[in-house]
Amino acid sequence: MTEIPASSSKEESEKKIVYSETFEPLDLESENKVLQDELNKLEQENRVAYSGLKQAQDETALLKDMFTKASGELESLKKPSLLVGEVGTIFPKNKAIVKLPNGNKFYSHVSVEIKGLKPGDTVLVDQKSLNVVEKIEVCDELDVEKFVIVNKPTESWKEIGGLTKEIQEVKEVIELPLKKPELFKKIGIKPPKGILLYGPPGTGKTLLAKAVANSTQATFIEVVGSELVQKFIGEGAKLVKEMFNLAKAKAPSIVFIDEIDAIASVRMENGTSGEREVNRTFMQLLAELDGFNNLDNVKIIGATNRIDILDQAIIRPGRLDRLIEVGLPDEKGRLEILKVHSKEMNLQKVKLKDLSEAMTNFSGAEIRAACTEAGYFAIRKNRDHVTHDDFLKAIEKVRFEEEEDLQKGFYG
Ligand code: ATP
Repeated sequence: MTEIPASSSKEESEKKIVYSETFEPLDLESENKVLQDELNKLEQENRVAYSGLKQAQDETALLKDMFTKASGELESLKKPSLLVGEVGTIFPKNKAIVKLPNGNKFYSHVSVEIKGLKPGDTVLVDQKSLNVVEKIEVCDELDVEKFVIVNKPTESWKEIGGLTKEIQEVKEVIELPLKKPELFKKIGIKPPKGILLYGPPGTGKTLLAKAVANSTQATFIEVVGSELVQKFIGEGAKLVKEMFNLAKAKAPSIVFIDEIDAIASVRMENGTSGEREVNRTFMQLLAELDGFNNLDNVKIIGATNRIDILDQAIIRPGRLDRLIEVGLPDEKGRLEILKVHSKEMNLQKVKLKDLSEAMTNFSGAEIRAACTEAGYFAIRKNRDHVTHDDFLKAIEKVRFEEEEDLQKGFYG
């Protein structure tokens, strides 16, 4: 090992000091640059941190706002609801008789803040004290056009396959009185106000109603009985009333009530509020039917798959007293329907007669479905025409689906 002489190490350290004290201008510049970069970086970080802080502050403000709204909502939810009542007689010293929807009447105190209260006004009543706390404006008029379908159908008689007898009857009972009311006046007979079409689903009841509306250029007002009962709870009767007003205003018109059994079935009389509601709707329907003239240019068409449960009141003379059965088509009928629905199809070597034979028990809707399915079989095979075989497969598919639906109906 070689020892470093002491003198030599001292010399070296002096040299070092000298070295560290002498700054080359270039190094200073690069040092400066490094520091500047560092400063830029810090400033950049500062900006990011500041924007993060700003974002956090915004979020806090938003959350605070949400919290205030939610606690306000919670407070409102905790408050008991107010009853809606109708003012009867008004007495001095801020007293009035208030009638609640259940029929009970109360002699209540009226808040001094309520000015110009009149009998018949709608008011809010405190549940506990039954005092009147506020007067409100309610709109009693239902905008019936929002709830029923009102249109001018485009379906024509030509689009109906078979049903010759049924078409004839509909023409006599609905079309003729609307087109030639004077004929009935001359002969001195009153045509029925309406008809009831009954039969299995998909047999063309709606189609018949639309075709007669089209042929008479009548406004078609359509409502579904089950919807009337389920969707418009508490409003069913009012809706029926408004619907007839609309029909009169837009006459000539046809009111089509599908699934009429939902409002006009034999009632169980179980006394529930739902039952009472259906009852009221039904009573209103009967009142409307009784309320207009046979020769007014408004006709009613009811449709049902369940004539067995229908209340006889609806089919009494002067109401829907012409019953027309629309049953499943026979082989000839099926062929006619098949012709209607395959008219626009590009067919090759298709024997429609054989197909109608294979479609035993098919309804019009199922025949139409089979035509569409046959078209799909052709599309899947990349063909631009439909063959007999496509139809046979389609019939099988529709029949299978029908059986599945039937099983669901029984077991599901
Ligand atoms: P639901 O009782 O289920 O209301 P519905 O008897 O009113 O059924 P529609 O709605 O008229 O049946 O028929 C459904 C579709 O089936 C029609 O739009 C039509 O395409 C076809 N259809 C039914 N019957 C016929 C028919 N006789 N001729 C031509 N198409 C028919």
